Amino acid sequence: MQILSGLTKDTGGGIESQTKEKAVEIYPPKMYSLFSMKHIFAIAAMAVAVLESAAFEIYSDFPGGNIDIVEKGDSGAKIRQQYRDSDWWFYWSFGVKGAEGRTLTFGFVDSGDVIGSRGPAASFDGGKTWKWLGAQGVKRKKHSSSFEFAFPDGAKDVRFAFCLPYMPTDFDAFAKSAPSLKKMPLCKTRKGRENFAYSLGNPDGKIKIFLTSRHHACETTGTFAMQGILEEFLKKGGAAEKLLKDAEIVAVPFMDLDGVLDGDQGKGRKPHDHNRDYTKSPIYPSVAAFQKLYNAKMEKAEIAIALDLHAPFMFRGADGDSDNRAYLVEGPIGSKVENLRKLSKILEAATLKSGEGAIIHLQKWDVKYGTLWNTPSNMKEVTCSAWAGRHPKAAFACTVEIPYTDCVGAEVNSESLRGFGANIAKSLAEYFAAPESKESKK
Ligand SMILES: [Zn+2]
Repeated sequence: MQILSGLTKDTGGGIESQTKEKAVEIYPPKMYSLFSMKHIFAIAAMAVAVLESAAFEIYSDFPGGNIDIVEKGDSGAKIRQQYRDSDWWFYWSFGVKGAEGRTLTFGFVDSGDVIGSRGPAASFDGGKTWKWLGAQGVKRKKHSSSFEFAFPDGAKDVRFAFCLPYMPTDFDAFAKSAPSLKKMPLCKTRKGRENFAYSLGNPDGKIKIFLTSRHHACETTGTFAMQGILEEFLKKGGAAEKLLKDAEIVAVPFMDLDGVLDGDQGKGRKPHDHNRDYTKSPIYPSVAAFQKLYNAKMEKAEIAIALDLHAPFMFRGADGDSDNRAYLVEGPIGSKVENLRKLSKILEAATLKSGEGAIIHLQKWDVKYGTLWNTPSNMKEVTCSAWAGRHPKAAFACTVEIPYTDCVGAEVNSESLRGFGANIAKSLAEYFAAPESKESKK
């Protein structure tokens, strides 16, 4: 370290001149120049070795990346998530290169405790696959948190994130495996990207099921669940597939595509976020385009359900916290609440049959209108589900909250999230198959 700081300050000159002085005392001039060069090379080699060991790199220049480096040192770094145009929120995602074989601590400073109950998510293959590191290396304080990680010898490049990422490339890979999923242009985003909607089933079907996620860019669990819903509908011979004779699924996986790719929090974006934009004149092209698509599809519909898939607040592992539950958010609209409760009950039964490790849903977890944060306000009136639910043909529309890390002890991961989605699909099939569905439409 002394060599390192000497080199940094003196750019090598100081060390070289000291060596020369010493050499002059002992050796005759010709020998001196030869030997001192050896010294210089040896010291330089040592310095390079020290420099290399300190020179791990923190980066976030990839889709979904989000981090500020406050301070970097030998033992790790002080970092902070970027809020950008949101108030405080907890999403972050970064990579570390060149730290193989070392143990480093990454501390979030002045940015709250932003590590979930299962520690950071990590990827060792450039973001293709992810797993939770566990909470054993996590230290929590009221306004900060940190995690320590021992990089294995071969781990030249490791990604860390608050949650399990789900990016457009993930959806594209899934869509490739499902040729019957029809890709439709939705809109050009504010930043000029092409955004897409997807259709599955019978476009002339009288039942329409709308699925949306990432109105809040960071809420990745909703898109995993969406994939699970679609996978179940695609399964040959299942009850969900049978429903497609009469039904069309319309899905928009990335409502805030720019936010997802840029690694924004998205939640609470100023002047308002995508899920507070369902006004007569939306400011986000994807919201305007979804409204248009919804209304056009509804012309052929007799009945519809719209599920807007979200994640609740982060869960840090405290007892009595409700952010480790999967639940529906009830709306205010008269008899339509009964339709929501009917699906909720079916979904509860389906998830409870799913065995160990499944993300379960209990109807009693649903947040009733007028309770907690689910209270009447101007802002609640302009959410996707409030807007979609007002359509006369809508049986109901609601927000589905799917936790980031834990569901009452079950690990949230790609498999359990997609399993939860599969249960939503099966429940939708049962909902529309049940004879009383026509009654409850009224
Ligand atoms: Zn949300």
